Amino acid sequence: MPRFLIKDTAKHIGEKVRICGWVDTRRAHGKILFIDLRDISGIMQVVFVPSNKEVYDLAQTLRPEWVVEIKGQIVKRPENMVNDKIETGMVELSVDSLKVLSQSETLPFPIDGDGYDIGEESRMKYRYLDLRRQRMKDNIIMRHKTIKFFRDFLDKEGFVEIETPMLTKSTPEGSRDFVVPSRLQPGKFFALPQSPQQYKQLLMVAGMEKYFQVARCMRDEDSRGDRQYEHTQLDIEMSFVEREDILELVERMLIKMIEVVYPNKKIQETPFPRIPYAEAMKKYKSDKPDLRNDKNDPNLLAFCWIVDFPFFEKTDDGGWTFVHNPFSAQKEEFIQNLLDGKDIEKIIANQYDIVLNGWELASGGIRSHDPKVLEKVFEIMGYKKDEIQKQFGHMLSALGFGAPPHGGIAPGIDRLVSLLQNEPNIREVIAFPKTGDGRDFMMDAPSEISKKQLDELHIKTDSLKNTKEKVKPATQKKSTKTKK
Ligand code: ASP
Repeated sequence: MPRFLIKDTAKHIGEKVRICGWVDTRRAHGKILFIDLRDISGIMQVVFVPSNKEVYDLAQTLRPEWVVEIKGQIVKRPENMVNDKIETGMVELSVDSLKVLSQSETLPFPIDGDGYDIGEESRMKYRYLDLRRQRMKDNIIMRHKTIKFFRDFLDKEGFVEIETPMLTKSTPEGSRDFVVPSRLQPGKFFALPQSPQQYKQLLMVAGMEKYFQVARCMRDEDSRGDRQYEHTQLDIEMSFVEREDILELVERMLIKMIEVVYPNKKIQETPFPRIPYAEAMKKYKSDKPDLRNDKNDPNLLAFCWIVDFPFFEKTDDGGWTFVHNPFSAQKEEFIQNLLDGKDIEKIIANQYDIVLNGWELASGGIRSHDPKVLEKVFEIMGYKKDEIQKQFGHMLSALGFGAPPHGGIAPGIDRLVSLLQNEPNIREVIAFPKTGDGRDFMMDAPSEISKKQLDELHIKTDSLKNTKEKVKPATQKKSTKTKK
């Protein structure tokens, strides 16, 4: 007998079915025993009566969270027992047979509430139980629907999803890298990508023209409500475009996604307002202004574009660094300034952000596809010629082989879904996030590795105590903007 999903039972009154799931609650009413059975699709009332003795006796032993398989008949509930709060509230299952598929220990915390009041350590250690709660299931399923919408949308627009490597090169231009030692090249390290930025540009040189990827980005920065070591972004790059083409595409995609996946949300203003960076700083003292007219409305979405960011900012030691991305192009009118290294603080990048309800949702830019310009950017930032070659030679050389004009953007999926699900923290919409202090309590990571593994990787470690004393924390960039 094929398995029947609980949500479908209401439409099949009278039929004999087999359902499987978890015992949500059990209660007795006189001699009759009720359990609520839960599967991914919903909850259903199941009725055991003493006349079916063997099954009834076994049902008496059931405890919450046991996994069972039940065969029986879907029947209409008596009028006074109807529960109109749930989809299956009209019906119940009259049981023929019961099989216990697995038992459960008492859970370390309740899963019937929203779980916000439960300690983070405990929720993370037993994340697989935390995910059983309805709120978390909804978050994960809505995340899937959002991503699926984007994939289908971009596919229809002619984009190709292309995977790029997880093991790549450490480059000094972003936030801190996670590094991976190489076994075959002693003393050398890969870095995990902070974003597929360089690869997606190289794919444009390769002639792919419209690329996207649901990409994981790894950045070793302190986690906060809207940051994790790993985050997922909808990484997009296009050839033969100007800023307007990218803004139009992404705005249309977001508006359509909200309409289809979140029809109960209201976008405050379309087209999304466009605010130059300088104006945002003057008016709102922030480049991530929260423009909602009514901040108490959980369904209100105030998108805006922030455009015309300065290309460079001063570093603590008096040099220059990029504000967002060294690969951005300057706005046309600043080409001479850039090539001459003149009035550097005045150079505006052809770069843009999307802000949603006060969160930076996406960054992007038109890139420089002229190797001379890119080289100049690195010179302004104080790189010596040979350093530029060593770190970025591959990009400069690629741009020398017929690079099309190109640009892109990368909306953050975790932030977007958190905002849409009204979650205060991106951890709530990631199946297996790290804790606030960057640990995985469930797997117990990071953790020591064996001497044999270390030897194979040619790595010697200091004791923890020594490490703490000797290693100064690496300096982070001054700007709070997401780099790369
Ligand atoms: N690579 C950039 C980021 O991760 C996005 C982009 O410029 O396309 O923020």
